[in-house]
Amino acid sequence: MANYVVGHKIPDSDSICGAIALAYLKNQIGEEVIPARLGELSPETQFILDKFGFEAPLLKTSYAGDGVYIVDHSDIALAPDDIDQATILGIIDHHKLGDLTTSTPLECWIRPVGCSNTIIKMMYDFHQVAIPKNIAGIMLCAILSDTVIFKSPTCTTADIKCVEALAEIAGIDDYKALGMEMFLVKSAVEGTPVRDLILRDFKDFNMNGHKVGIGQLEVVDLSVFDDIKADLLTDLAQLKAEGQRHSILLLLTDIMKEGSELLIISDDESLAEKAFGVKTLDNKAWLDGVLSRKKQVVPPLQSVFSE
Ligand code: MG
Ligand code: MG
Ligand code: MG
Repeated sequence: MANYVVGHKIPDSDSICGAIALAYLKNQIGEEVIPARLGELSPETQFILDKFGFEAPLLKTSYAGDGVYIVDHSDIALAPDDIDQATILGIIDHHKLGDLTTSTPLECWIRPVGCSNTIIKMMYDFHQVAIPKNIAGIMLCAILSDTVIFKSPTCTTADIKCVEALAEIAGIDDYKALGMEMFLVKSAVEGTPVRDLILRDFKDFNMNGHKVGIGQLEVVDLSVFDDIKADLLTDLAQLKAEGQRHSILLLLTDIMKEGSELLIISDDESLAEKAFGVKTLDNKAWLDGVLSRKKQVVPPLQSVFSE
């Protein structure tokens, strides 16, 4: 029995950097906690860890009998499979409240901000623990990633202030340039199998009893997908069937044009129209201004399914 901090399945930079940052804080205040992860690192996260000199957290998928701090979600579907046999010590998150429950009291830090690492910075301030330079660096990168360098509608003043404070600690003058460097790493999709691309940032949601999978790829120029869009659609159909999903969506997000091309395969042909008010052509549609899955894609879908 040990205590861990772990983010969601198919971990993103927020989940990984958050696990490292929160584990350090907990250890500083006398709680032995080990940072862990539920899956492979994305190229973006690998870039961040390399840049600030961190090893990947421990790859660990089973937590039966352990204590766990959950970061960056509160959903059973995104948690370790045996989470019901673990003791949830705390939840640190910035998403809608999920369906994880506990049988013992827990620590909860849930705020409507752009990134879990913004909340973790609040926790450092609360406990008056100094953030080491390299941890400030990875926390800053996680916030720039989640908020799409402040362009996402999920970004709040708290996130911006937090990045400014972390940049000061980390000694980074031009953090926006670092953010762009990170998104360029993210945009290098050439040579990657389409299945890997679809699953790179993919989440399944339970929408009123229907399984809906939503992936997102954020790039600086959508032309990187020109040659593979047909293959992406074919594989989306395959993945939908494999997981018995009602619908599967892939958002190809252009962070410069600030919108997303939606690829969608659904049992309901008019789902995109009902949710987003757009007609699809060949299973595709442009969603102008849509950058955030959490804030702009999940809620309208959820209301269609709850009608
Ligand atoms: Mg996340
Ligand atoms: Mg996050
Ligand atoms: Mg994201």
